[in-house]
Amino acid sequence: MDYQEILEDIYQAIQPYAKEGKQADYIPELAKVNPDQFGMCINTIYGETASVGAADTRFSIQSISKVLSLAMCLSIKGDSLWERIGKEPSGTAFNSLVQLEIEKGIPRNPFINAGAIVMADLLLTHLENPEDDFLRFVRAVAGNDTIDYNRDVAASERSCGYLNAAIANMLKYHKTIDNDIERVLQFYFLMCSIEMSCRELSLAFMAFANHRRKFDYAGIILTPSQVKRINAILQTCGFYDEAGEFAYLVGLPGKSGVGGGIAAIYPLQYAVAVWSPRLNSKGNSVMGIKALELLTSQTKESIF
Ligand code: GLN
Repeated sequence: MDYQEILEDIYQAIQPYAKEGKQADYIPELAKVNPDQFGMCINTIYGETASVGAADTRFSIQSISKVLSLAMCLSIKGDSLWERIGKEPSGTAFNSLVQLEIEKGIPRNPFINAGAIVMADLLLTHLENPEDDFLRFVRAVAGNDTIDYNRDVAASERSCGYLNAAIANMLKYHKTIDNDIERVLQFYFLMCSIEMSCRELSLAFMAFANHRRKFDYAGIILTPSQVKRINAILQTCGFYDEAGEFAYLVGLPGKSGVGGGIAAIYPLQYAVAVWSPRLNSKGNSVMGIKALELLTSQTKESIF
């Protein structure tokens, strides 16, 4: 398979969608990003790599960080994690409050904001230096020590994070989180603020694509079965209320973020990351989804 040629074809084919959608502007710092950018990078378990566009430009990974916090929480808590968070698709927006109220403060899954805020709380409880430990893990899994938080983005999100604050308050009322609400929110926003490029993200997601490789990064250890289960949750919950559409169009487990990034895996074959800031109404990258749909259509490779 000539992935370089395929990616170059895709890059051409998605151009008609270049102005569709709009970047996230509810986080003031993200509103400053040039929306007309696109990058894509694929890495196979055989060591092949291909990329197009701004594959080396770093962007705010936002909710893609939830996959990494899930890996950490599962390694630390094992199956007892599921006493606090469910693993069913939500069918609701990433920042929805309604379901959380009805279900008495137990988030449907780790990839909606409520679930990730609970994971932030667990990490605060269990880690000695949560900020340093999370960053060390991300750097180890991506094999790159220059990856960092963007504290301006985190502070900017906190300054208008009313909905996430409401979610955290609801969780606290139901005793699903233990730590101080403000501390939990700050740490949640900080994890979302990590910046990585498509190349770095796709290399990081190789750890999930190849569950037969030992998962042991900065002391965070998962069994092959735990890695496969993270992939199952990616498949069912990675795109919120668009998870069905993403499965239908693309057919790979993946995770999106409002920075416009998507990371997806084809188990035992490859990890791919794509980035373009313009989002659809569900908060997922328009060109990103289109590019991945073309990738699995052209290669005739998907999990289905
Ligand atoms: N930090 C963002 C938020 O909480 C993450 C959302 C996302 O990427 N879908 O709203």
